[in-house]
Amino acid sequence: MENGFNVTLTSSDIKLSKSLENGIEFSCQMCGSCCRGFHEGEVYLYPDDIDRLSEFLHISSNSGLKKFAKKYLRIINDTFFWKELGEERGKTYKFKNIGLKFTGDDEHCQFLKDNKCIVHENRPFQCICFPFWHMLVSSRKNFIEYAKKCPGLNTLKGKHYSKEEILDWATKEYEMEKEYFFKMRQNDFNIFKVYPFLSKDMLNK
Ligand code: SF4
Ligand code: SF4
Repeated sequence: MENGFNVTLTSSDIKLSKSLENGIEFSCQMCGSCCRGFHEGEVYLYPDDIDRLSEFLHISSNSGLKKFAKKYLRIINDTFFWKELGEERGKTYKFKNIGLKFTGDDEHCQFLKDNKCIVHENRPFQCICFPFWHMLVSSRKNFIEYAKKCPGLNTLKGKHYSKEEILDWATKEYEMEKEYFFKMRQNDFNIFKVYPFLSKDMLNK
């Protein structure tokens, strides 16, 4: 998700962009724009997302998960800045994560049909908390850039989200990333230990 946006989070205290101090109006217009194209960044999936989606799609076996992964997921690069308690400096860790595999000329998510998300109730957390991703809400530039493309942010008639609500979404997203980082660290940053159903050949795609 770091792709495309120039923000590195250095602490769990999310600094909300001043332009969002008074909250914002947002109501998704279901245009599907954010479910297409890689330019805005990847949609990461976390272990809870995989559990929810596989249950919804009635996938229980390892071979079922393997097929699901090959069709819908891709292995992507991820980074996370972390500073140990007591350490003077932190560092940026680089590791692998999984994201939705977009296809077609318009690079659409395969769960997008007729501009509707067919897994809506069980969509990944990053889709649920969009557009209040921490990398968007902490940067005025990023948020304004994205707002130009999202009709849900361009209407003044949308639902009002207060500063606290926006921070809450962004913090939840950050905590999810942090939890995944810890899980990867416990597993020697080996994504195949965290997700045994992934195939090695997905690394090159
Ligand atoms: S781009 Fe904005 S309005 Fe369109 S589907 Fe995404 S969040 Fe909704
Ligand atoms: S899972 Fe649904 S909301 Fe998320 S990118 Fe795909 S179609 Fe869009």
